[in-house]
Amino acid sequence: MGELAVETVQLTKKYSGIAAVKDLNLKVPQGKIYGFLGPNGAGKTTTLRLITGLLKADAGKVFVQGKPMPESRLDVLAKTGALIEKPAHYEHLTARENLDIARRLYHVADTAAVDRALKAVGLEEAAGKKVKTFSLGMAQRLGIAYTLLHQPELLIYDEPTNGLDPVWIHKIRTLLKDWCTKYGTTIIISSHLLSEIGQLADEIGVISEGRLCYQGTVPGLIGKTECVIGIVTDDQIAAADLIRKEGVVIQWDDDNTLFVTGTPSRLQAVKKALKDKGIHILNETGKDSVDSLEEAYLSLMNNEASVS
Ligand code: ATP
Repeated sequence: MGELAVETVQLTKKYSGIAAVKDLNLKVPQGKIYGFLGPNGAGKTTTLRLITGLLKADAGKVFVQGKPMPESRLDVLAKTGALIEKPAHYEHLTARENLDIARRLYHVADTAAVDRALKAVGLEEAAGKKVKTFSLGMAQRLGIAYTLLHQPELLIYDEPTNGLDPVWIHKIRTLLKDWCTKYGTTIIISSHLLSEIGQLADEIGVISEGRLCYQGTVPGLIGKTECVIGIVTDDQIAAADLIRKEGVVIQWDDDNTLFVTGTPSRLQAVKKALKDKGIHILNETGKDSVDSLEEAYLSLMNNEASVS
């Protein structure tokens, strides 16, 4: 595995003695889009604040581009663009003036960087308007513009599509994908919009109650999500015997249907084994694989709720 853009090791943060983030080991690969998911209060914002050095951990470590945080904060933040929670603007100044202040803070000499950032988020025409007149979506897009000014190596977004309409959600998705491909930028993006993350992310990390429940690719999560199919065969007794031998969970119902629970690959293996034995499936209900990140995520959260 190549060098990680961000790594957390046993990261723990407590508020008033209660852990919001617990023993978290995130591994964000270099130059990829990493979707950071979890229910309300799971600890996503807290984690992003720890990664950017806005909060100090109670235990564990954070490394950004191999550098320890928060000790390397100045160095790391100079190469990071982050939008965590609501963007803060000078409301009485124009969009261009706001961005120009940020440009100078980032020590970007090229004044054209402001126009490029305005263009990227479609605010060229509104550049001369005071930010207090902006809609929620426009203010959010201006927040995204700040993060792009200095062509950072790492972009961190907490709910970046807040207040954006569907057209702008799509445009921002395209922008982030292009940025990642063109400049090799690593992007961490926390969102509740699972279809967005499904289309954007190369890898995802899912947390619940401050703990990691999954880290890997979206197909990887779909592949480990158990599904249930109901089958009726021409020899239910022989089918049940064979399925049990495959080590897959089965149940009968009153209608003589066999319900089989397993991951997509296990269910495929069961069907192949039945076929190889000459047992024919006469009727099949349910799905042997989930189709979307949303379904896989809901199943993961359901399992988390049943074990906690
Ligand atoms: P959401 O999806 O709702 O934005 P989140 O995953 O970003 O949630 P956090 O904001 O990190 O979750 O909160 C994690 C937990 O820490 C929650 O229980 C929250 O109430 C608590 N928490 C967050 N900030 C503070 C704070 N400043 N003081 C005390 N508790 C806090």
